[in-house]
Amino acid sequence: MRPAPHQAVARGPLNPTLPSYLDAHALGPWGHYLQQIDRVLPHLGSLSRWADTLRRPKRIMVVDVPIELDNGTMAHFEGYRVQHNLSRGPGKGGVRFHQDVNLPEVMALAAWMSIKNAAVNVPYGGAKGGIRVDPRTLSPGELERMTRRYTSEIGIIIGPHQDIPAPDVNTNEQTMAWMMDTYSMNVGATTTGVVTGKPVDLGGSLGRREATGRGVFTVGELACRHLALPLEGARVSVQGMGNVGGVAARLFAQAGARVQAVQDHTATVYRDGGLDVDALLAHVSEHGGVAGFAGAEPLSNESFWDVPSDILIPAALEQQITPERAARLRTRLVLEGANGPTTPQADDVLADRNILVVPDVIANAGGVTVSYFEWVQDFSSFFWDEEDINRRLVRIMSQALEAVWAVALEQQVSLRTAAFIVACRRILHTRQLRGLYP
Ligand code: GLU
Repeated sequence: MRPAPHQAVARGPLNPTLPSYLDAHALGPWGHYLQQIDRVLPHLGSLSRWADTLRRPKRIMVVDVPIELDNGTMAHFEGYRVQHNLSRGPGKGGVRFHQDVNLPEVMALAAWMSIKNAAVNVPYGGAKGGIRVDPRTLSPGELERMTRRYTSEIGIIIGPHQDIPAPDVNTNEQTMAWMMDTYSMNVGATTTGVVTGKPVDLGGSLGRREATGRGVFTVGELACRHLALPLEGARVSVQGMGNVGGVAARLFAQAGARVQAVQDHTATVYRDGGLDVDALLAHVSEHGGVAGFAGAEPLSNESFWDVPSDILIPAALEQQITPERAARLRTRLVLEGANGPTTPQADDVLADRNILVVPDVIANAGGVTVSYFEWVQDFSSFFWDEEDINRRLVRIMSQALEAVWAVALEQQVSLRTAAFIVACRRILHTRQLRGLYP
């Protein structure tokens, strides 16, 4: 029977897990995040009553970012800021400049920030932002104008007590300096705490630049101990030689591991017995990528996934470890430096094959942990030394991994599901305590 017109108007969305503005066929990482939430639901007890709040971002902002190019013409870019959950504190998460950035991706990245921040217990909700642009096509001046206009457009929802951006893929300390300055100009007061990952001379924190890679190494070292896998001589493959993969590779090499295969957006390089990581990083900073590095042989991009290793570190973009690649991998431990590098189906393949995955929401949480230290230091205008910062970072990361490890054993689930259990319990417990307004 056809519904009467008034019934049709009152009808809710057909799929309660899917906001009406999303196309179910183009969910990508957001679809994967929803599947990860499905897996945690049976473990949430009475808190699952609130779980639908995790399936919908709290606030989404899409902005037009117009700039004048150096040649006098106009260009328009699409910018986003998504605040996924604010139950535990202000929004927190990076800003990504990439030609493939889109809304469902930023929603997923924001949601993973909610989970990550709760998993390591820093007092934040989760947020993420981005601009759909290939920043390599812009001049420094164009990049600055775009960054400033974007900051101004999202200025009404960010702030040191509202939502605190930070660097992510293709953004860095300079980006944060422009964002901090633009926000400060607009509110009429220097506001260092509005972003983290700033230059140290501008209220940034010592150790922040290395923090994500250092965190990957810290949990990697611990996981290796659990697996009785000695770091000395361990074979390591790394995808991504940016701020995360580069620092992690250096720390693993310093600990005696052999970094044999490296892939980035320019090429894949391999050296039996281990690459000279310092030389490789010098090459990357000079040439913008690993392509053409003399101390290695080139490999085809797809064969990166066939190189035998003990530790694999995906530290680039999402959805790299597909079920097909997961079935081919010859490794013992996957340390997720990137956000969302493994699809849920690939997770199942890896679990069946007894390959341990330390999930992104723990493995790469070192960055936001030191961002938290930076934000605290900015409020007190009192800055800690690097030793202090690294010591606190190692403590938080180690405690987080051990707590998640215990839940994984107790509930007989993967480390990812265990991290989601710990995080979702924290978020939803806060949600319940705060209650529903009105
Ligand atoms: N972009 C980083 C991440 O994905 C850091 C975020 C932050 O420091 O707020 O965790």
